[in-house]
Amino acid sequence: MKITEVRLGKISVPLRVPFKTALRSVSSVEDIIVEVHTDTGAVGYGEAPPTGAITGDTTGAILGALQDHIIKTVVGRDVDDFEDLMQALNSCIVKNTSAKAAMDMALWDLYGQLYRIPVYKLLGGSRKQIITDITISVNDPEEMARDAVDAVRRGYDTLKIKVGAHPELDVARLTAVRQAIGNDTRIRIDANQGWEPKQAVRLLNQMQEKGLDIEFVEQPVKAHDIEGLKYVTERSYVPVLADESVFSPEDALHIMQTRAADLVNIKLMKCSGLYNALKIASAAEVYGVECMIGCMLEAKISVNAAVHLACAKKIITKIDLDGPVLCSEDPILGGAVFDEQRITVSDEPGLGIKGVEKMTYLD
Ligand SMILES: [Mg+2]
Repeated sequence: MKITEVRLGKISVPLRVPFKTALRSVSSVEDIIVEVHTDTGAVGYGEAPPTGAITGDTTGAILGALQDHIIKTVVGRDVDDFEDLMQALNSCIVKNTSAKAAMDMALWDLYGQLYRIPVYKLLGGSRKQIITDITISVNDPEEMARDAVDAVRRGYDTLKIKVGAHPELDVARLTAVRQAIGNDTRIRIDANQGWEPKQAVRLLNQMQEKGLDIEFVEQPVKAHDIEGLKYVTERSYVPVLADESVFSPEDALHIMQTRAADLVNIKLMKCSGLYNALKIASAAEVYGVECMIGCMLEAKISVNAAVHLACAKKIITKIDLDGPVLCSEDPILGGAVFDEQRITVSDEPGLGIKGVEKMTYLD
């Protein structure tokens, strides 16, 4: 199966409501789509969201990395030569993790199609269904409480509450949410780097004292501040999950070796795709560190690839793959079925994506 051509496209999908975190506010998903064609007629699909505030990858940067480096690296190569292909992809340009992730998943899609096996089974998995949390954007406490009640009515048993913007409001936000939804729903929180280390410890302890029952806190401090992250991890009874601090397998290993966090968040867009995500999962297995799998604001192609990984790896115990359910429509044909919190993986060969509606080709 030889790669003959790569076509690029763009999709625009409105969100149900604007997505707000300590870092940004967004009202639609505007993603780049990668379509990898082969001499057998098989097509592999990939997707990359521009998430400049987190990855540094803008739309222009994703397109430039694909057009100037990645596409010329893969065209003409054989999909069956998979390890060589993965190494070439990962060494053809530094950083640019989202562009590499889009190509990585398209190649896994093709490799699975070549051997007629769904990717999650190729990776040894047997789990067919996973349960995701849903994100509640950061707003004033009353609005967040209303959004939380809506999410519980939609059937979600785990909420991921965004905090860290105007931190002086965070305890009131959590208190309002907990009072509104009661004690049967799990709450995890994400500060998106919005706290200082001592402030984080103080806020988390206040939340504990108020009995708000926080499952874990995601990225309390700045991404580069590993010492600060470790400071919070050592002093808070709320477990700490590293997100923006962990891009590469090397980052993950360093966090695990120094015990700077209790948990690690794998996102394909940070680690350049499944090839490196598997390395993080393996390191986590060795260190006994449970992982979450997360996504950016992504439509179904790239989140579907993350679903296959989650269904394959038991060390991934926490699922934060709510990109598709935050969208008001679904232009992607095939792949996993997203029914609110319940995600069911597809048993089609590869990643099971059949096509994209309303895509604008860029070539
Ligand atoms: Mg996060």
